[in-house]
Amino acid sequence: MFSKPRRKVTRVFIHCTASELTKHDNVAAIRKMHLERGWSDIGYHLFIRKNGVLENGRDLERTPAAQKGHNTNSIAICLHGLKKDRFTTPQFDTLKRLCLEINKAYDGEISFHGHSEVAAKACPVFDYKSVLRLDAYGNLGLTGAVTQATAEVDDMTPDALPDLKEGARGPAVELLQELLLIKADGIFGPKTANAVREFKRQHKLYPSDLVVSHVWKLLLGSKQVPHFD
Ligand SMILES: [Zn+2]
Repeated sequence: MFSKPRRKVTRVFIHCTASELTKHDNVAAIRKMHLERGWSDIGYHLFIRKNGVLENGRDLERTPAAQKGHNTNSIAICLHGLKKDRFTTPQFDTLKRLCLEINKAYDGEISFHGHSEVAAKACPVFDYKSVLRLDAYGNLGLTGAVTQATAEVDDMTPDALPDLKEGARGPAVELLQELLLIKADGIFGPKTANAVREFKRQHKLYPSDLVVSHVWKLLLGSKQVPHFD
């Protein structure tokens, strides 16, 4: 389970070890390599083995040493591997679960990137944008628990309301639309997503389409709550 560090974090970077050697498939080996370089610890915070096991590297409270010039305010995740077709489904499943947890911990106000976006490197060599369904801004597009909202809304407290994002449908989406004062058809399409982004922008939040408890709180607090029968 991911727990948010106290230091500020705005970006997550994905890496690969650039090795297919089995002996490099664990955090201890990579730590040893980085210590041999004269570093104080492994550069990455989290390491994902070929079998999908997640290992802890550098303390999350510490800035990573992983993306030269772009380490501040970041979290660095490394997957073992070098060849694009040899990364495993368990690795990707762990990466997806981890990124969903991180995204949730930051209420969607965090973006995900490949090392290659800030360096002239191929790292990570796999198509992380498809794996994580990232948009052009690095917003996580994974479904996870955040799109299904078919249950009736019977508790209108922020923590009881479901997390929503574009693609969701159901009564909670209708409630969201009523609070945004837009057409309430229960379908979270592009127009609803734009209204959410605009609302979040007005409240100085990262303008993603993700609606989580603190966004519900603002929505419920800033508008007349409609009556539901
Ligand atoms: Zn890298």
